[in-house]
Amino acid sequence: MDGTTTTEPRTLRNLIGGAWTVAADAELLDVTNPANGEVLARVPLSGAADVERAVAAARDALPAWRGTSVIERARRLFALRELMERHAADLARSVTREMGKTLPDARAEVARAIEMVEAATAVPQTMQGRVLEGVATNVDAETIRQPVGVCAAITPFNFPAMVPMWFLPFAIGCGNTFVLKPSEQDPLTMELVMGLIAEAGIPDGVVNLVLGGVDVVNGILDSPGIDAVSFVGSAQVARYVYERASANGKRVQALGGAKNSMVVMPDAVIGQTASNIIASGFGAAGQRCMAGSVIVAVGDAWERLRPELVARTEALQVGDGMDPATDVGPVISPAACDRITATIDAALAAGASLAVDGRAPSGVPDGGAYVGPTILEGVDPGSATAREEIFGPVLAVVEVETLDDAIGFVNASRYGNGTSIFTESGAAARRYRVDVQVGMVGVNVGVAAPVAFFPFSGWKDSFLGDLHAHGPDAVEFFTRKKTVTSRWFSEGEIGRFFVE
Ligand code: NAD
Repeated sequence: MDGTTTTEPRTLRNLIGGAWTVAADAELLDVTNPANGEVLARVPLSGAADVERAVAAARDALPAWRGTSVIERARRLFALRELMERHAADLARSVTREMGKTLPDARAEVARAIEMVEAATAVPQTMQGRVLEGVATNVDAETIRQPVGVCAAITPFNFPAMVPMWFLPFAIGCGNTFVLKPSEQDPLTMELVMGLIAEAGIPDGVVNLVLGGVDVVNGILDSPGIDAVSFVGSAQVARYVYERASANGKRVQALGGAKNSMVVMPDAVIGQTASNIIASGFGAAGQRCMAGSVIVAVGDAWERLRPELVARTEALQVGDGMDPATDVGPVISPAACDRITATIDAALAAGASLAVDGRAPSGVPDGGAYVGPTILEGVDPGSATAREEIFGPVLAVVEVETLDDAIGFVNASRYGNGTSIFTESGAAARRYRVDVQVGMVGVNVGVAAPVAFFPFSGWKDSFLGDLHAHGPDAVEFFTRKKTVTSRWFSEGEIGRFFVE
């Protein structure tokens, strides 16, 4: 013995009907801390048989959960909200450890996850139907909302605490039961949340967790026991999920990738605009679907913005998100790091030039996946750099003459997730919000992600389906409408109240 001990990383399990269950014959994948490469756990790549177990548990739990009063369901969500609040610091640390974003950013993510649960507690109001008395003599019509059944969500790596909560609390609040497949790259935060769900008194089987990748996704898309699928991830997989799940008769909402433009008008307030652009482009190392990734500078805006933006970008500290001195954490994996660096190289080969080069950030911890904030200028508006998602801390600058040109550039995108305009002109802002073909618009706001009570509304290739995530759309998505027409014979009594 040399006195050193090595502890094997633990192997994660699926949560099925309230029991932590070993996945059947699953290959294992390392879950790593992207800040230093430490292996945190091993995640099983479960298969269709594991999905079917989870679906059976969810179906068994459905009648009793649906029969639980809506007020009682809301109370369990209140309890979950309180528990998440109490454990917010642990949840945020978990997000930083497995995903890489800085601790303040992770805390903000957890706060938004809690807001989702909070919004879902309104279900006794939001799930109400409509009644119209007297559609014919002695006939009344009423539309009631009922749960859809077993709902599943498939989520991406970039918001391991928040994105699952875009769906889970609304689905179970409406009386559905649930199967969650988080990203295999960072599943640990949802493992913590599952513990809190049990502690909140939400019965076994109402929420089930199946860990893995493509095989779990296909299992969900093909399972006859799943009625609705919510997906968030890249555009290509969103389309695949949308097509396969809807071909199997399921209700689907599929949120895809993005390429978000930030239009800077010549009258923009430079200091505020630079702060917003830095937070939007480089927060979470550019790995947000609402991250601004193209600066569309109108007239002389780039000339005015460039000195401050470049100086402040160069001053950003890249490092471990746990370190309070860090402004920009790692990207999710060494593979992502290589892909982003290759994209910057390709942009240079295509004629762009570097205003800030983040390809080899200095002083970063060993073993981590780091790309520093990068600004590419002189980018051709038609190039891949200006048009395709990079999903890293890279901003492309496109210069145009007029607001019309800026709107034309944004509307030519295949994506339509988020966009911002920075200006002091109300008329320019109004023109932009009216004409731009994008679902979420910020006016002097760099990340215009809607709060929980409003829908998250990407357009074009950024969203496939009809009903969006959270807000009023969530209750529409997670309920089915039933309209009852009744006739009761009591003709002698019609209008008696008014006659007497
Ligand atoms: P991803 O598409 O690689 O993975 C998303 C989910 O799909 C994961 O659970 C993954 O296991 C699964 N998956 C991956 N490849 C698959 C395949 N070939 N077949 C079936 N399932 C597959 O996305 P990601 O890298 O985890 O997340 C980043 C992407 O998500 C970016 O494109 C980002 O813009 C997008 N995103 C969009 C939104 C939005 O609201 N529109 C929000 C967050 C992230």
